[in-house]
Amino acid sequence: MADYVNGVLSGDRMILSRAITLVESNSPAHFETASRVVKEILRRAGASTRVGITGVPGAGKSTFIDALGCYLCERGHKIAVLAVDPSSSVTKGSILGDKTRMENLSRHKNAFIRPSPSSGTLGGVTRKSRETMLLCEAAGYDVILVETVGVGQSETTVRSMVDIFMLMVITGAGDELQGIKKGVMELADAVIVNKADGGNIMKAAATKTEYDRILHYLRPATEGWETKAYACSALTGDGIADAWAVVERFIENVKASGVFAERRRKQELSWVYAMVEDYLKQKFYKDERVVNERPLMEDRILSGDLSATEAALEFIKLFESGLMIKC
Ligand code: GDP
Repeated sequence: MADYVNGVLSGDRMILSRAITLVESNSPAHFETASRVVKEILRRAGASTRVGITGVPGAGKSTFIDALGCYLCERGHKIAVLAVDPSSSVTKGSILGDKTRMENLSRHKNAFIRPSPSSGTLGGVTRKSRETMLLCEAAGYDVILVETVGVGQSETTVRSMVDIFMLMVITGAGDELQGIKKGVMELADAVIVNKADGGNIMKAAATKTEYDRILHYLRPATEGWETKAYACSALTGDGIADAWAVVERFIENVKASGVFAERRRKQELSWVYAMVEDYLKQKFYKDERVVNERPLMEDRILSGDLSATEAALEFIKLFESGLMIKC
């Protein structure tokens, strides 16, 4: 345990990776060590800027993170890149993790890139990503970039982990707006219109204006901050410095108003409940009685013998009777 703690605190990347693997592990044997390691490093965590980035596949998130990450590393920051990809539990594959990504940044000594947690987990994404973030902070990473694609609950999960949330879009507002899930715009503190380069510059400017117009009618995601659109090109690097200036302005603003500290406190609370939910969910699906009865129950539901409500109640009764016996 002490090796993990000392290694992480000294910024040893190999040990950081191993500590993350430990907290990502689903094995009950690892739970206790993992939670002791996290507890020990907590006092050194928290001192970073946590940035969430979402957008449809192909919007240019990896390219943007590569460019922004290198820009920040060159200025002495230490950058950790994490991915929240809950789709893995549905598709048993990773949308974010499978391609070769962020080639320039991955070679930088100030950068640490962690692919999404292993697939096939039942819940647990929030706990794992959050603890991974804390470990990275304790290892000295002062900017944490958390990337996600808009599948399932991923955007809400990431919004609940970060200080500022950015939505990346591409030009052609009409089509793009349809591809973006309802409600995601309301979570964003900045909309980044990417691929503003070559013959696309004028179109990007028009898209930016269109988003600004729509954003004007939405309730801002963060009290006291007006969400706006900004154009950039992750490919040429134009607008990358401006995008970071927006993050800095935002952080300055929310720190001064007290919103930053309040949001982090609320996030702490919602993490607690997310962890409880993860735990209960795992317990339910792994419960022997539930596992044994599931095929029969599902047949009865599908044949119309049991309604959804009746089935849910039966499952709960079954699960609770198991708990009573264990008590
Ligand atoms: P992601 O799925 O959102 O991570 O998107 P990627 O970063 O993988 O980019 C998708 C495609 O868009 C790739 O072919 C990139 O080279 C291209 N791309 C990304 N950013 C830009 C940009 O600023 N300008 C142009 N022209 N292409 C870009």
